Amino acid sequence: MSNTPLDLRSAVLDQIVPAGEPWMGTVERGQILRIVDLEGNQAVDTLFYNAHATEERYSAVDTIRAQGNIYLTTGTELRSSLGATMLTIIEDTCGRHDTLGGACSAESNTVRYALEKRHMHACRDNFLLALARYDHALTKRDLPSNINFFMNVPVTPAGELHFADGVSAAGRYVQLQAQMDVLVLISNCPQLNNPCNAYNPTPIRLLIWAAG
Ligand SMILES: [Zn+2]
Repeated sequence: MSNTPLDLRSAVLDQIVPAGEPWMGTVERGQILRIVDLEGNQAVDTLFYNAHATEERYSAVDTIRAQGNIYLTTGTELRSSLGATMLTIIEDTCGRHDTLGGACSAESNTVRYALEKRHMHACRDNFLLALARYDHALTKRDLPSNINFFMNVPVTPAGELHFADGVSAAGRYVQLQAQMDVLVLISNCPQLNNPCNAYNPTPIRLLIWAAG
């Protein structure tokens, strides 16, 4: 990986994902995926699958154990359920990403906020919608613990999780290089009840560059 900045005009994909919407696509081995937090402190709930054998998928536990650290940033190897490196974080202008907090769902909205929040749009619904649109037989049981890019969930010395104010800002990005062909499943979180995004979901930009 050279230190030459990547030319935005040479990206093979350059797409805005609107606030609250899902996205699913493939990143081939060697390709570079950049996720840009366009307006700041947007949670980008993300899962990865081996594109050729989707029963192999991102594993938060294997990733944490492999690097001996709970936070994801530059140098983190995102490990699969079989222990393989799926992607490597090669650049990170945010500095910290969470993989403990999980994705919001109708159920968690009810428990965390209020009963009448049950029917609000949530990441789990986004994941299921994207999977249903995609031509694959993946369902609810294929949703393991996810990554929350740009989300700040510090763990206290006593081991408590805190959903803290974000450390990201407009224009910050995380860049990953695929070590295998991966299916990428994103929910650009629609959450309206959590101060982590200032109660204001915002769009993200996805860029992919060819290998080499
Ligand atoms: Zn969410």
